[in-house]
Amino acid sequence: MEIKPFEKKVWLSSPTMHGEELKYMQEAYDTNWMSTVGANINESERMICEKLGCKGAVALSSGTAALHLAIKLAGEKLYGQPSVGHGVLEGKKVFCSDLTFDATVNPVAYEGGEAVFIDTEYDTWNMSPKALEKAFEIYPDVRLVVIAHLYGTPGKVSEIRQICDRHGALIVEDAAESLGATYDGRQTGTFGDICVISFNGNKIITGSAGGMLLTDSPEDADKIRKWSTQSREDAPWYQHEEMGYNYRMSNVIAGVIRGQIPHLEEHIAQKKAIYYRYREGLKDLPVRMNPFDEKRSEPNFWLSCILIDNDAMCRQVRGEKTVLYETEPGKSCPTEIFETLAKYNAEGRPIWKPMHMQPIYRMHGFITDDGSGRARSNAYIDEGKVPDVGMDIFDRGLCLPSDNKMTADEQDVIIEIIKRCFR
Ligand SMILES: *Cc1c(COP(=O)(O)O)cnc(C)c1O
Repeated sequence: MEIKPFEKKVWLSSPTMHGEELKYMQEAYDTNWMSTVGANINESERMICEKLGCKGAVALSSGTAALHLAIKLAGEKLYGQPSVGHGVLEGKKVFCSDLTFDATVNPVAYEGGEAVFIDTEYDTWNMSPKALEKAFEIYPDVRLVVIAHLYGTPGKVSEIRQICDRHGALIVEDAAESLGATYDGRQTGTFGDICVISFNGNKIITGSAGGMLLTDSPEDADKIRKWSTQSREDAPWYQHEEMGYNYRMSNVIAGVIRGQIPHLEEHIAQKKAIYYRYREGLKDLPVRMNPFDEKRSEPNFWLSCILIDNDAMCRQVRGEKTVLYETEPGKSCPTEIFETLAKYNAEGRPIWKPMHMQPIYRMHGFITDDGSGRARSNAYIDEGKVPDVGMDIFDRGLCLPSDNKMTADEQDVIIEIIKRCFR
């Protein structure tokens, strides 16, 4: 069978609109609530609280802004308010997920702190509780842990919570990719002391941009609202006692989000169907799907990914920005599949490159289950040894086209393209 390139690109994950979004945007326009105040903001915050079961949500300009304020707030709780011009985390180490998008960890640096990256476990591709335990042995003074749920799959967050409680550490939970996913029957975004979600254009629901900070503390919610609107004091003039930011969400953006929230479950169902169609369609290949704890968790299936078996990997060498590979019968590699999909007008994406291997974070600590950390990943680069878990998943894994609007027929073609890579 000859496969022709898709006429319309099949995306990794693109916005899926339904109509109500426009209605609420129009309402903002018609009533002239065209700033960072209005019914769309209030209603979106209320709906997210209702859905997730949290007491307070503050709508902000992005998930990154929400993470910045969440990490700053956690820092203030732990170390007090810094003087103007200083970060709240100066001189402090913070344990962070390693296999995640850089927005999870950059705010630690915005506040002058030093991220120490915790290796990943194979069961969920998220922070390894074992490596976190090891990290507290090595750095017993650390009091803040930032965790993410990769690709919509909940990490072992109950275990991580127990470890953090034992060490008196706070958790900032980045649920940007996992909105609607549950662990032990509870929504992600409710396990951390302070939590964050995102409405970026590629997320499971979107405002085109935007994010929220979630907290059960009304005082904390008020503080975040204040910080995000330039920390104006209650005075007739502009009066400032704390550092301020322009991080509040626009009421127009909130209109899009308000229209999207009722469709969250529908998007999850579509993403779930995509995941299981891949799992079935690829079952005879030497690959496995991104795993999750089938007893304890229900992912939102934001992105479907594969991990190629070790012995089915053809040679692939990645430099900092370029990659080479050699095809071999019966074998393939993420690059070959990625490039072949692109040739047919379908968008895959490499697994997020681990933070400890990013040039900007290369001098930062990194802790594996056995405590060997960087020694292990450097030995791997030098001598071809078994890499850390994060780099192994990066080497052998690939995100597949996971757009809700992809049809079953289109997905069948994508499955066939992947099969041919292994011939
Ligand atoms: C998208 C994303 C963010 C950032 O959200 P923005 O709204 O794009 O700023 C943070 N963390 C993770 C894990 C993400 O995927």
